[in-house]
Amino acid sequence: MELRNYQRESVLAVYASWRANKNTPCLVLPTGSGKSVVIAKICEDVLRWDGRIIVVSHVKELLDQLESTLIKIGINSDKIGVYSAGLKRRETDKQITIGGIQSIHKRSTEFLQHGKINVVVVDESHRINPGLEDSMYSNFINDMRASNSNLKIAGLTATPYRLDDGLIYGEGKLFESVCYESETEDLQNEGYLSPLVGKKSRQEINLKKLPKARGDFNSTDMGLRFLDKVEKCVQEIILQTDDRKKVLIFCCNVDHAEKTKAVFERYGKTCGLVSSMHANRDQEIANFKDGKLKFLVNINVLTTGFDDPDIDCIALLRSTMSTSLYVQILGRGLRIHPDKKDCMILDFGDNIKRHGVLSDLNIKKDKEKRKTIAAKACPKCETMCSIAIKICPVCQYHFKAEEVDPNHKDKASDLSPTAKVEKLKIVVEKIFYKKHLSAAGNVSMKVTYVGGDVQINEYVPFESENQWALTNAERWWKYRTGRFDYPRTVDEAIDRIEQNELLKTVDVVTYTVQPNGFPKVVRRKFRNL
Ligand SMILES: [Zn+2]
Repeated sequence: MELRNYQRESVLAVYASWRANKNTPCLVLPTGSGKSVVIAKICEDVLRWDGRIIVVSHVKELLDQLESTLIKIGINSDKIGVYSAGLKRRETDKQITIGGIQSIHKRSTEFLQHGKINVVVVDESHRINPGLEDSMYSNFINDMRASNSNLKIAGLTATPYRLDDGLIYGEGKLFESVCYESETEDLQNEGYLSPLVGKKSRQEINLKKLPKARGDFNSTDMGLRFLDKVEKCVQEIILQTDDRKKVLIFCCNVDHAEKTKAVFERYGKTCGLVSSMHANRDQEIANFKDGKLKFLVNINVLTTGFDDPDIDCIALLRSTMSTSLYVQILGRGLRIHPDKKDCMILDFGDNIKRHGVLSDLNIKKDKEKRKTIAAKACPKCETMCSIAIKICPVCQYHFKAEEVDPNHKDKASDLSPTAKVEKLKIVVEKIFYKKHLSAAGNVSMKVTYVGGDVQINEYVPFESENQWALTNAERWWKYRTGRFDYPRTVDEAIDRIEQNELLKTVDVVTYTVQPNGFPKVVRRKFRNL
C-alpha cells in the first residue's frame, strides 16, 4: 500500500517508541488524514511479525471502514475478526481483531484463550477517561497487560485533549507522550486536506445565559433558541450554498432537526435527516453520498467516521462548548476532492469565535475560554479569520488597529497570557549550517535562517539519545532530502548538505517572539531546489 509521507512517518514513530520501551505512544493526526490507513499498516506489520493485534474503537462506522481498508490492502479476510454487538459479529480467535469497546471490554478472556495479544491500538483515544480506573478502556487494557507485560499500545486521535481534563497524555495517564503529530494546516498546505472557509451567519441567535448540562449546552434549551430563527437560518443556508454541492447540517436536537428539514422542503429542497432516533439512517447517508440529496441534517451522528470527500459546506445550526466536538464536525469538510476548491463553514452558533479557526485553536479551560474570543469576522466579506490576522485572506480587507485583536481593545497594555502573539515573517535570503555544542554538552546542527536583519536558529539533534528528538531530526532530514539513510553525526549531515543532498529548502519562516525574547518558529514554507 502506498502511504503518504506523514502516514509512513507516523507508523515509524510508533515503532521507534516501542523499540525504546515506551510502550504507550499516542499519534496525533488530523481528521481526514487517513487514520484507517495508518492503523491498517500497523495491522499488516503485526501480522508479518506473527503477532496478534486488537484495534478498539467506539464508532461502528470506523470498524466498518477499517475492515474494508484491511481487505483493500490485501490482507486475507481469514485473518481478520470483528467483535461488535452492533455488527452482530463476535470473532475472538483471529490475529487481527477490530472491536467495539462497548462489546469487548468484558470479553478479555475470550480473546486470551486463543493466545496473548501483542498490540492494542486505540482509535479516537481522547475518549479514554484518564481519571477513572474502572473505565472500559482501562479494564480491557489492564487485562491484556496482565497476560503480556510487554504489551504495546498506540493511541490515535485528532484532538489530544478533553473538555474536563486537559491533555490526554503525560504522567499518570494511559499515554506517556505524543510520538508524532501532524497539523491540519501543514496537510492543507501540502494539498492533502481541503481548505476551510469560515463564514459568520447573518442571523443573530441569542446564546446569552444558555443553560448547560454535562459540560456542554443543554440541547433542549439550545434547540428552542435556534428554533426561533429556523426559517431565516434555512433561507440563509439556501442562499449561501447556491454554488455548493453537498451541505452537511448539524442541529441541536430531534425536534430542531425535523423542523429544519421541513423548512427546506417548504422551499422545494429535498433534505435528508439522520439521527439515532430515525430508522433509515443508512439509506439517507447513501443518498447523500450518491448526490441525490444536497442537504443532510443530523444531530451529533455524523461527527466521527463519516467520510464523504465532496462535502463542500458544513452548517452549524448549533453551538458547542467542546473543542474536540467542534474539530470533529469541521473535520467532515477536510477531505479533498477534484471538484472542490474549499469547504465553507457556515456558523450560526458563534463556534468559530469561541474555538478559533482550525490552525489556531483556543484550547483553554471553560472559564478562561469564555473571556476571550478566538476568531473574528472580516467586516467586509464575513470570513472568519484567526484573531491576530491583519489582512483578510479572502478579500484582502485591512483590519483596523482595534480590530486586530478585539480581546484587548479596551486595555492596550494588557499583557495577559491569553493574549495572542503576533506572527512575523522573514523571507529567507541565506541559510547557514554549523555544528553546535550546547552548554549542557549536547551536539546538534545549528541552522540559521537569515532574512533582512533577522536571524532565526533551529537545532537539529542528529546525535541525540532522546528518541523523540532523534525522530524529529530524521524527519527534518527526510522531508528535505526524500531519503531514509539519515546522517549519524552532525558532521556527516553538514557534509551531505554541502554535497547538495537537499532537494528542498526553506523559503519563508513564520515566527512569534516569546516572552524571553527568543523567536519561536511556527511555520516554514518550502521551495524545491
Ligand atoms: Zn474579507
